[in-house]
Amino acid sequence: MAVERTLSIIKPDATRRNLTGRINAKFEEAGLRIVAQKRIRLTMEQAGTFYAVHKERPFYGELCEFMASGPVVVQVLEGENAIAKNRDVMGATNPAEAAPGTIRAEFAQSVGENSVHGSDAAETAAVEIAYFFSGLELVG
Ligand code: GDP
Repeated sequence: MAVERTLSIIKPDATRRNLTGRINAKFEEAGLRIVAQKRIRLTMEQAGTFYAVHKERPFYGELCEFMASGPVVVQVLEGENAIAKNRDVMGATNPAEAAPGTIRAEFAQSVGENSVHGSDAAETAAVEIAYFFSGLELVG
């Protein structure tokens, strides 16, 4: 299995409830290494660019407003099969459908305010990591 990197975001609903440490513990317990991390506040425009793939979806405006509503923690996770492994640790988009023990099952508040983002494929991971981090900021 290949060592991969994936982009993770701890969303405003989770930073607001002081859950950063508990969420990071889930990543580390699963064998994912946090090789870059910073707490930032996205503007509406930055959130809109990040989620441009969802531009035509009915929830796009709501999603951008939510992502700009408070601090987020953007991070790069590294490990064997990191992209799929992180998606497993996150759980399903809708917390009502998320498997027990996953981040979204334990912490998410709704399908929109669902605590974490994770890249869904190698190509998107590369683009998403480069959106937030320079190579110098990735310390494996
Ligand atoms: P993910 O890859 O599991 O995060 O899910 P998607 O790529 O399908 O959706 C991206 C994000 O849009 C989700 O994590 C949610 O925050 C948000 N989202 C998805 N579906 C809905 C919805 O029906 N309503 C709202 N308000 N937000 C949604």
